[in-house]
Amino acid sequence: MSALSPQKSTLVPQANTPMMRQFNAIKQQHQDKILFFRMGDFYEMFGEDAIQAAKVLQIALTARGKNTSTEPIPMCGVPYHAYEQYLNKLTTAGYTVAICEQMQDPTQAKGIVEREVTRIVTPGTTVSPQLISPDRNHYLFSMSLHLQKRRIGIALVDVSTGEFEVTEFALSEIQKLYDFIYQTSPQEVLLPQSRSEAESSFLEKIMQEIEKLLRIDPQTPSPTITFIDPYSFDHAVATQQLNQHFQTLNLAGFGLDQLPYGTAAAGAILQYLKETQKCDLSHITHIKQHSFEEFMLLDETTISNLELFHSHSGEIRHTLYGILNQTQTAMGARMLRRWIQQPLLDLESIEQRHQSVTELSQNLIFCEELRHQLAQIQDLPRIAGRISLPIAGVNDLLGLRESLLPLQELPNWFSHFTSLFLVEIMESFDPLEDVLTYLQTHLLEEPAKKLKEGGFIAHGISEELDRLRELTKDTKNILNQMIEKEREATGISSLKIKYNKVFGYYLEVSNAYKNSVPPHYIRKQTLVNAERFVTPELKELEEEILGAEERMNELEYTLFQEIKNQIIQHIPRIQNTATMIAKIDVISSFAYLAETQNYICPQMHRLESPPQLEIKGGRHPVIEQIDFEEPFVSNDVLLNEDHQQIMLITGPNMAGKSTYMRQVALCVLMAQCGSFLPAESATLSIVDRVFTRVGASDNLSRGQSTFMVEMNEAASILNHATERSLIILDEIGRGTSTYDGISLAWSIVEYIHHLGALTLCATHYHELTQLSSMKRVQNFNVLVKEDGEKIVFVRKIVAGEADKSYGIQVARLAGLPKSIIERAMVIMASLEETSSTPNLQLAHEEEVKEEEVLTQLSFFEEESPYLQELKQVDINHMTPMKALTYLDDLVFRIKSETKNSHT
Ligand code: ADP
Ligand code: MG
Repeated sequence: MSALSPQKSTLVPQANTPMMRQFNAIKQQHQDKILFFRMGDFYEMFGEDAIQAAKVLQIALTARGKNTSTEPIPMCGVPYHAYEQYLNKLTTAGYTVAICEQMQDPTQAKGIVEREVTRIVTPGTTVSPQLISPDRNHYLFSMSLHLQKRRIGIALVDVSTGEFEVTEFALSEIQKLYDFIYQTSPQEVLLPQSRSEAESSFLEKIMQEIEKLLRIDPQTPSPTITFIDPYSFDHAVATQQLNQHFQTLNLAGFGLDQLPYGTAAAGAILQYLKETQKCDLSHITHIKQHSFEEFMLLDETTISNLELFHSHSGEIRHTLYGILNQTQTAMGARMLRRWIQQPLLDLESIEQRHQSVTELSQNLIFCEELRHQLAQIQDLPRIAGRISLPIAGVNDLLGLRESLLPLQELPNWFSHFTSLFLVEIMESFDPLEDVLTYLQTHLLEEPAKKLKEGGFIAHGISEELDRLRELTKDTKNILNQMIEKEREATGISSLKIKYNKVFGYYLEVSNAYKNSVPPHYIRKQTLVNAERFVTPELKELEEEILGAEERMNELEYTLFQEIKNQIIQHIPRIQNTATMIAKIDVISSFAYLAETQNYICPQMHRLESPPQLEIKGGRHPVIEQIDFEEPFVSNDVLLNEDHQQIMLITGPNMAGKSTYMRQVALCVLMAQCGSFLPAESATLSIVDRVFTRVGASDNLSRGQSTFMVEMNEAASILNHATERSLIILDEIGRGTSTYDGISLAWSIVEYIHHLGALTLCATHYHELTQLSSMKRVQNFNVLVKEDGEKIVFVRKIVAGEADKSYGIQVARLAGLPKSIIERAMVIMASLEETSSTPNLQLAHEEEVKEEEVLTQLSFFEEESPYLQELKQVDINHMTPMKALTYLDDLVFRIKSETKNSHT
């Protein structure tokens, strides 16, 4: 049991009735869950379960057995016909619920009704439409750990769609785990119960990190951490579990033979799913290996800083995803999310996407109509998922049928495609015509939708059903005939035959005709203005009708299961088709954006080509659409390896530095996702990673010391960036004192200069502009104009450093009294004279080797004379006594000098 898991509830004490004994026996198997115990029309909860659930659900807590001598048992309940909302509340709060049903009709039971847990709903395995949003995956995540071998395996599955992925890496790359969790934001994480002290403290640390991750975005709810039996992570057990599920002899076909720890994580997840869903999960048809090489790895800091999926404002339309998402289908929206999470690195794949966007954007009318067509298709993977789970209902089959209909048109549309990416889809597209025909012939055109009440199976499917239907139709005729006959016999013209659950069919006579009721009518009920009767003849007829209806419902239920099983055979095909639709949806969404938002196709160069980013007239895709206070001003960017590897940007607050740098990063990401970008033209070499680091006060949401955060993030860049990376540094070093801040920023820029990564760096430390004496560092600033009393942000990035005293000038323009401004000027001048910072020296970079850059920390000071002296000392030619005397003298000299300089 985990520290985060909600509870470990106890059995109900003094359970001295047979039913409470049954409850306890079942509860024993599910101690870490809340048990929904079906009793008639309610799911009841008892004991500790009831106390906790009543609190979360805000329902009344009562007690059972109040009048007996023993202590009453706390109890609460929810009605079964509306239980789902209560269940959802509990899973959202991180609880796991075991649903225990009555397995017998209570009227048939001898003694106590048989009960069984039929389903377990955990936060990561719920498929309730109220809890899983259509445009994102709902993941369950698991991690296996081998401390001695220093490996980590991870697997994740979306039960609602059947997507299943696996990967593994070295313990030293643990950051990948956090990046992955941040990207996918799973609802539940499965970890092995620790078997040793070392494991336990390691897992503890992982849990802390996961919690910390989630503090970055308050919108992402924290996952529930569930500890499971380490036995499920055993390699042999996991392998067997997976082979059994996929009906394979070995897992080499999935590439899992190379991933023993990934296999362990995948096996554990599958076993957990089987235990909770209690079905064979036929929609999980394959497992995919997640490759870290194929895609750009986006770390959590970058995802968060660039507001790819969550915005600081909390609004989805303030995110890149929000802007790019013009998809028409749920699977398209999820695919887009994935494409943004995993920008491509391979030129051919990127260009293929671009070419197909070009094709569709050049024919916008066609594109619009295609999108209209797509909009009619429901969430196929989720429908397929529901169909293979025990919760499947008539609606799911109908949803499938409705979606398959517009699909039949698509091949005609696709025949126009010419670009490779789309042609490949067209050639293998499967419109599932046979599945549609099957559903059309097996379900009524306008069916009833309640599974247990029948009325949805088409005619001609089952002879017996058709015969029973005829019969009931007939009995209805007979009923009508009976009314006629009785009316005639009694002369009661308003006589009616009605039905309710208590009496079944009955005759109703209004009070006006009370006296005409014949003696063989048996009175059942007297109302204010009418009386109700039955006759033996009516009861006989009733039995016939109800018997037939019951039989029909049973029959339809059985037929439903048969149809469902038939459809399940085709789930891999349905999933395949859904993936193709999703791809077309994303491409046409990109094309639509390109045309409506004026995006252009970038010219791309291979990852291996000389690093270069050139954007003319670039815009920020989000700000240009949400900020209407002023028209968006476009800007160029040029970064290359020869003379402009690093752009150092200065300028007053609010001038537009951050916006500019982010727009460059966003454009690069958009291009590598396959989208066009907001610019006039662009030539981009593929980058292997994008790093963004934002100075601490811009990014306060985490609990760590801000300076620590900056140091950590800087370290991560230094460890992972290559000459093919793009780095955005926004006011780094801000989280600490001026000297520390300047030093940190300075040394990082020096290091990057040596490294060769293309970099944009904004700073308010004017001192850093001196870095431009390095070969590939260029100064830029954001133009600000004075217009009389006003200050005007021109939003243009221009070459050269910003005016040093812009801060004071802005203050003047903002209306600070003249005397204060004048005084500030004097103070600044005097600070400049005395301060040691203007004394900065460049590490002469061309001669400096990498190690030296890293070790040369004291570039602000001239080397101390004492240090120089010490370097000359030859210890080997000194006696210990002489060495001690020398040391004493040295200390004395240093001390007296620092004393003097302080007085
Ligand atoms: P800085 O980082 O220099 O303090 P920001 O980049 O945060 O400034 O920009 C401040 C605000 O200015 C932005 O929120 C945006 O509303 C506006 N802005 C920035 N760049 C532009 C631009 N190119 N065109 C129009 N408005 C802009
Ligand atoms: Mg800024």
